[in-house]
Amino acid sequence: MPSWPSGNKRWGGRPAVVEENFRKQGRNIENRCYDNYLRGLEAEQTSGGALCPVCKTMAKIRVKNRARTIYTLSGGRKFRRHYHYCGSCEKDFYALDRKLELREKGEVSEALEKRLIDCASLRLGGFD
Ligand SMILES: [Zn+2]
Repeated sequence: MPSWPSGNKRWGGRPAVVEENFRKQGRNIENRCYDNYLRGLEAEQTSGGALCPVCKTMAKIRVKNRARTIYTLSGGRKFRRHYHYCGSCEKDFYALDRKLELREKGEVSEALEKRLIDCASLRLGGFD
């Protein structure tokens, strides 16, 4: 068993343990950043309504703070957004979902979906 320089002890000892600790710290930072991003977007939602994506008139909020969970490259992310209904064209929508470029239905982010497709294509030997 090799003896590791003493400097490694403050990072967690053996290089494999140090690497795992770095990965965990990176995940913690990523989680905090992502959650702060979503909390910021939630806070930016107004109580006055949102522009209808179809007819461009102001649509009222029908329900505030409905929860949604989306699975991303960094795990499941829960956030709350207002549900809008346009009285002019009868379109219902979530303005924050649209801002986040999420599909109306589904639980997977675009980036995670792309990664999953890439993995599946590698497993199947590509698209050639
Ligand atoms: Zn409309």
